[in-house]
Amino acid sequence: MHHDIQEIGKRAEVPTPCFLVDESLLARNLEILAQVQRASGATIILALKGFAMWSTFPQIAKTLRGTTASSVNEAKLGFEKFGGEVHAYCVAYRDADMDYLRKRCHHITVNSLSQWQRFQHFAGQEETTASFGLRINPEYSEVTTEIYNPCRKGTRFGITAADLAQQDPSTLEGIDGLHFHTMCEQNSDTLERTLEHVEAKFGRLLHHMKWLNCGGGHHITRPDYDRDRLARLVRHLRNTYDLDVYLEPGEAVALNTGFLVASVIDRFDSDGHPIAILDTSASAHMPDVLEMPYRPEIIGAGEPGEKAHTLTLGGTTCLAGDVIGEWSFDNDLKIGDRLIFTDMAHYSMVKTNHFNGVDHPAIARYHPETDEVIIDRRFTYADYRDRLS
Ligand SMILES: *Cc1c(COP(=O)(O)O)cnc(C)c1O
Repeated sequence: MHHDIQEIGKRAEVPTPCFLVDESLLARNLEILAQVQRASGATIILALKGFAMWSTFPQIAKTLRGTTASSVNEAKLGFEKFGGEVHAYCVAYRDADMDYLRKRCHHITVNSLSQWQRFQHFAGQEETTASFGLRINPEYSEVTTEIYNPCRKGTRFGITAADLAQQDPSTLEGIDGLHFHTMCEQNSDTLERTLEHVEAKFGRLLHHMKWLNCGGGHHITRPDYDRDRLARLVRHLRNTYDLDVYLEPGEAVALNTGFLVASVIDRFDSDGHPIAILDTSASAHMPDVLEMPYRPEIIGAGEPGEKAHTLTLGGTTCLAGDVIGEWSFDNDLKIGDRLIFTDMAHYSMVKTNHFNGVDHPAIARYHPETDEVIIDRRFTYADYRDRLS
């Protein structure tokens, strides 16, 4: 990279807090995804749940054919701002949701046999544009954190092979595709083992399908991701079952493309313990730091004790647990210093909230061709007020 994001984050025109996405880093991910599409024949669509910064959609739409939505609002954003194919998978559709989506979407995946009984009559009906699919539960997932494991016992996600086997054959009338989503931040070896279960349990059915959607959770743009194996697996599916294969990552599209720029607004010692308060918040702006939980990286900072000055970085809400973590720095922090958290594009902007009325981070892009920071959005008091009444 020829530009220094730390210098860019310090520019006066960058407000804090601010999400800052580097278009050249996004371009690098898109090039990887384009290679995967070429080598495998898969179609990759963006899962809006993970990344929905729509000012970047014109750039992403040059490589990806469309989006997938988990709600009507996400689908509307896909139609309005991305274009191309809009797919939908919702845990459950209300009648009005289905009425809207079936006339506009490319694929609609239903989560349960009960939902399918409710909506089967729409398949092939006048005005229906959607091709329908079922979410299956292959009963195999390598996700170890229970809250993220879609195959955990008693899961509400997808239909098992045993439940499907008990159905009358007419149940499958109108079903064109199958969909599974059982991975999270994983490599293609996990996909390979997952597909063994999918094929063993649903292989017979796949011969009658037009498409298979392998969900998200493919960490394709990570340096150690085995893309050759992914291409091999997808080609195997396409050749064996003569169907279209879709992948719908969210995280992998925006992985390592964005930053959160924050300022130090107070610095004190509490009972001998050095604390810096930032104008951002784990709870309001980086909820995954508390929910996942994980520890973000800060450019130029080290592990606690690694550098001369170790400090606790606190958020600006009144939640006692709004602590981002502990890092060490070469120099003690002072009011006005800027800190740049890395990998803050995915599952950040889509999950923020206005808790405590804290200032919401602006949303900006760095455009390397002109060395410009484009501030797409600044949030005001009205944004806080207008989500309440
Ligand atoms: C969350 C989700 C995705 C995207 O997952 P990533 O981990 O962001 O790649 C795709 N499909 C479904 C059904 C999902 O729930």
